[in-house]
Formats: sequence, C-alpha cells, structure tokens
Amino acid sequence: MKGFAMMSIGQVGWVDKERPNCGPMDAICRPIALAPCTSDVHTVWAGALGDRHELILGHESVGEIVEVGSLVKDFKVGDKVLIPAITPDWNSLAAQGGYSMHSGGLLSGWKFSNFKDGVFAEFFHVNDADGNLALLPQGMDLASACMLADMVPTGVHGVELADIQFGDKVVVIGIGPVGLMAVAAASIRGASEIYAVGSRPNCVALAKEFGASEIINYHDGDIAEQILEKVGLVDRVIIAGGTVDTFAQAIKILKPGGKIGNVNYLGKGDSVNIPRVEWGFGMSHKSIVGGLMPGGRLRMEKLASLVTSGRLNPGKLVTHTFKGLESVEEALLLMKDKPKDLIKPLILL
Ligand code: NDP
Ligand code: ZN
Repeated sequence: MKGFAMMSIGQVGWVDKERPNCGPMDAICRPIALAPCTSDVHTVWAGALGDRHELILGHESVGEIVEVGSLVKDFKVGDKVLIPAITPDWNSLAAQGGYSMHSGGLLSGWKFSNFKDGVFAEFFHVNDADGNLALLPQGMDLASACMLADMVPTGVHGVELADIQFGDKVVVIGIGPVGLMAVAAASIRGASEIYAVGSRPNCVALAKEFGASEIINYHDGDIAEQILEKVGLVDRVIIAGGTVDTFAQAIKILKPGGKIGNVNYLGKGDSVNIPRVEWGFGMSHKSIVGGLMPGGRLRMEKLASLVTSGRLNPGKLVTHTFKGLESVEEALLLMKDKPKDLIKPLILL
C-alpha cells in the first residue's frame, strides 16, 4: 500500500509498505477523510519526536472499516468510524489510573505516526477497536467528523486542564484550530469573558464567532502587559500556541489560585521558566497542568454529540479542501507554511 511518510528530519516522501496486520482486538481502516496537523509539522521539520525513517505520517482521520479482529464485538466491515488521534491500551495500568494517554509510557497512547505508521495511507491499523472507535453519526459532515479526531478533543482538554468554572475570566493563548476549539469549549463551559491571543484574520473572526470577547495581538507587544492593562488578572489561562516563554506570561496574568491548562506541543527550548515573584515566591497556588488529549470511544461519542446537537461546529475550521490521497503532500506543506488564510486543510478520499 502507498503512504506519505517522514523519511528523516526535514524530509518527507511516498513509501510502499505491506498492508498492516489486524490483531484479534483491532481493526484495519481505509481513510475517507484526512487532515494534517501542526504536530505533523513539528514531527518532521522540528524533529520533535526524534528521527524517524519511512514512518507514515498523520493521526487525524475518518475511516471505513475493511477488516476487524475476531474478538471485536461492536464494529464490522463497512462501518464508517470516528478515530481519535490518541488510541490508548484500555487494559493498561495507566488507563486504570486515569491517564490512558500515557498507557505504555509517557505519551504512548499517541501511536499513529509516533510508534507506528499513521493514517496518511491507503490503509491503517487501529488498536483496540471496541475501546477506541466510534460510529460516524448519521448525517455528520466529514469536515466536522475529521476535526473530532484531534482539534476538538485537544481544545476541550485545554478547558478541562484549566478547570474553567462558571463566570471565569479566561485567556486563550493561540487561536489556531486547537485554540479556537478551546475558545468554543470555554464558552460552553461557562466562562464570562474570553480573551483570545492570535493574529491571523480568519482565526480572529472565528474566535469572535466562537465566543471570544476581545482579541489580543501578540505582535503588538508583550501579552502579559497588554492583558494586565486591559483586563487585569484573570482566573484561567489555556495555552494553545507560543513557546516555552509563554508560561511566564501566563503566570504573570493569573490571580492567586489560578490555573494554566497547556495543550501546546513544546518542540523547542530546554526549560520552562516560572517567574519567581509572580509565582508568589513559590506560594501563589497558581498551577500548571499540561496534557495530551484523551482518546477512546466514550469520549469520541460524547464530543460527537456536541456536534450533532448543534452546540459545536468544528467543520468551520476547514478553510481548504483537497481530493485524493496524493494531495496529502500539498496539504501538509500548506500546514507547514501557514498562509494567512489557512486554519485547517481537509482531504476527502
Ligand atoms: P497553530 O500554529 O495553527 O496556532 C498557533 C497559535 O498560536 C496561532 O494563533 C498563533 O498566532 C499563536 N502564536 C504563535 N506564536 C505565538 C506567541 N509567541 N505568543 C502567542 N501566541 C502565539 O497551531 P494549532 O492550533 O494547529 O496547534 C496548537 C498546538 O497544539 C501545536 O503546538 C500542536 O502541536 C498542539 N497539539 C497538541 C495536542 C495535544 O494533545 N496536547 C494535539 C494536537 C495539537 P497567529 O494567529 O499569528 O498564527
Ligand atoms: Zn493533530
């Protein structure tokens, strides 16, 4: 089968591989929709996961099942399915401890294009089909369905990590597709004011539509200074963009007891620095939690129900649509170059 792969750091190309084998609990799918992710860009061009050779890229897809293992109970060949980017081993101790995304070791619930071939291929393998797949709801558009793989669960997780409460003043740093989903989710979760940090015009417009009260442009000066001047201290910060230095800005704008939920992937820099004074000399009760999105079937079904009920419209993130597996290459390069009018590309097969 054909797949689009990372050949080495900074290099991509097409490879020919055997179709993956299906274990007794697993499924083999063919993609019907795909999307490249900023994480694919970090993986290839920043070498953020280390060097990989001929590893098929991609972790965002909607699929049709072409084979199921003998122990799979709830799915059959021909089913169209939502597939989370993170596919944990549900019988692991990490999952029993509540951290399924780290089943098998740190970040090891992230298997596609990390420990095994990803979804940018004619076929791909899904471990623990009953635990990880969800049926594609009748009538759901493929753009929304594909955004349910990663953009929705990651944005929502930012809100969960920041533990947003009714009436909170919230800052969302970064309004690419992940941050935009965090803005929408913060609004659903009851934030009273949402300040969104970004600059791309499409993203700014969508942030406002999804519930942002005001936009802060980080090109206009230090974020912390701008927010302290306009708003004062806030209750919660979600980080979905920026660098290792963004954490210092977030600590500075938080009230005592405030929480930072980070979902940004830190591809560069050795350490995250916490400003000692604004961290209350170590006694501020300001906390930072960073997390990989949770995967799994129940979560996919619940997040999909936000879409089918009309509460969330992640299909709006898609600004560019391509046709055919071969256009994965162009779509990924677009994601790398991030032209001003791009939020998220989608490939239909
Ligand atoms: P984008 O690159 O599309 O968006 C990044 C956002 O951050 C943009 O709004 C950008 O502004 C803004 N930004 C860039 N630099 C700064 C800065 N110095 N200060 C403040 N804001 C800044 O990324 P995505 O939305 O696609 O993804 C966001 C992150 O989430 C990525 O790191 C991705 O790898 C990660 N991720 C994490 C997952 C998880 O499970 N935790 C899963 C999926 C993705 P501008 O408008 O100017 O472009
Ligand atoms: Zn992704």
